[in-house]
Amino acid sequence: MHEQTIAIHAGYDKDSMGTMAVPIYQTTAYEFRDTEHAANLFALKELGNIYTRLMNPTSDVFEKRFAALEGGLAGIATASGMAAIFYAIANVAEAGDNIIVAKQVYGGTTTLTGHTIKRFGIETRYFDVRNPSEIEALVDDKTKIILFESITNPSIDVADFDAIVAIANKHNILTCVDNTVGTPILCKPFSHGVDLTVHSTSKYTTGQGIALGGMMIERNDLVEKIKGNPRYAHFNEPDESYHGLVYSDLPLPLFTLRVRLSLMRDLGATPAPFNSWLNIQGLETLPLRMKQHSSSALSIAEFLEAHPKVSKVNYPGLKSDANYELGQKYFKGGHSGLLSFEVADKETAQKIADGTDIFAVVVNIGDSKSIITHPASTTHQQLSDKELVEAGIPAGLVRLSVGLEDTQDLIEDLKRALG
Ligand code: PLP
Repeated sequence: MHEQTIAIHAGYDKDSMGTMAVPIYQTTAYEFRDTEHAANLFALKELGNIYTRLMNPTSDVFEKRFAALEGGLAGIATASGMAAIFYAIANVAEAGDNIIVAKQVYGGTTTLTGHTIKRFGIETRYFDVRNPSEIEALVDDKTKIILFESITNPSIDVADFDAIVAIANKHNILTCVDNTVGTPILCKPFSHGVDLTVHSTSKYTTGQGIALGGMMIERNDLVEKIKGNPRYAHFNEPDESYHGLVYSDLPLPLFTLRVRLSLMRDLGATPAPFNSWLNIQGLETLPLRMKQHSSSALSIAEFLEAHPKVSKVNYPGLKSDANYELGQKYFKGGHSGLLSFEVADKETAQKIADGTDIFAVVVNIGDSKSIITHPASTTHQQLSDKELVEAGIPAGLVRLSVGLEDTQDLIEDLKRALG
């Protein structure tokens, strides 16, 4: 099946009512046939619904459809993108372990990895996504995962998947890509050997800035990398909190299942069924929207590149961009709707953001409505000056999330604001 068909149909068998739209199963719990059925479900002898903190039929359609679009084995929906990222880390690392993360990541990911998980005894080691060879020197036998973004937010670098995956596989370490900006439409991390993907579905998936959500997907055959791998002992040893279950013995998606049975059970960052439903509506038009976001962003990048007040434009679709070759290699059908550009200083950047009418000053991306952000004073405000430089965020950097309005109207809006 082609992508546009998968986006509209995958994961949903019209139920006994024959409803064309996926129903919203707004329920907390599920009735068991009898106590034996209940016991079988709890013992995983039979699979089925237990309680919405663990699973929900509406979220299940969203998970199956998203995993099919990404080309993965299975997915698990979470309450937000940050929850998906935290679960990817917490599913492999514990006190005394370390993880390797790109310096150029979303500000929330930087604070999570640099501060919050430190309090749990997990160390983060950073590498420059523009120089993946730095990873080699950071690896030791306590390294549990390498995390990076397919297109970085907001420095707009494209990760060199082949280079990162080659080092990871040499040491038998899992790789995880945040493919929020790439989307499953434009970028297919699993076909480049990545093991896991995470997404903030709050962005392009819902597409209209209407619902928080996250997703984690595991690739086909991930069990082969984990089974018997001493780095991932807890997948290969009995889980005392689940009657001695050994995850790598299961004929099932072991990574997402462990998130569901352990992290969802105990931490509960579960999506509301209504938010999963909104995300399903978004997926139906995602392939069409990503084409429009990408072509409009390219036209705007070309306009900005020619503007005398703009010293640099970061967009991998531009031939002049340092990431052009990587963009051609790892992206198909466009380079998404995110771009950034540099002007003289912070004051000029803020004046431009305040001067637009259509572009709204908002800290979000992937909305149908265009957004302008000054990262150094907002999304990345908690970063130190050193962290800002390392994340590729100069004071005069402006980020645009190009929406779905008419391209020419957006260019006129920016022309006015730039003066
Ligand atoms: N990853 C990226 C690339 C993001 O841009 C964001 C949010 O902006 C997140 C993760 C966090 O997602 P959420 O806001 O859904 O928690």
